[in-house]
Amino acid sequence: MIEISAPLYVGDVVEMRKVHPCGGKTWEVVRVGADIGITCRTCGRRVLLPRRDFARGVKRFLARGPGAPGEGAAGPAPA
Ligand SMILES: [Zn+2]
Repeated sequence: MIEISAPLYVGDVVEMRKVHPCGGKTWEVVRVGADIGITCRTCGRRVLLPRRDFARGVKRFLARGPGAPGEGAAGPAPA
């Protein structure tokens, strides 16, 4: 689980706790807003999750998107 307020960026790649029915567990963030849009990297399915549910479901970040600040940098919170 991550902080609900943890910065998220389009292009981030995350591993979710729950394995998708297709067998995939890595997802790419494609939309950041009140809801978080993620696409399954295995089957390409896109889903929208409320930020709270997303934060609960994330196991870890595998990669950060191009908009992410460097490690340890305190960048502004995304929209
Ligand atoms: Zn899938």
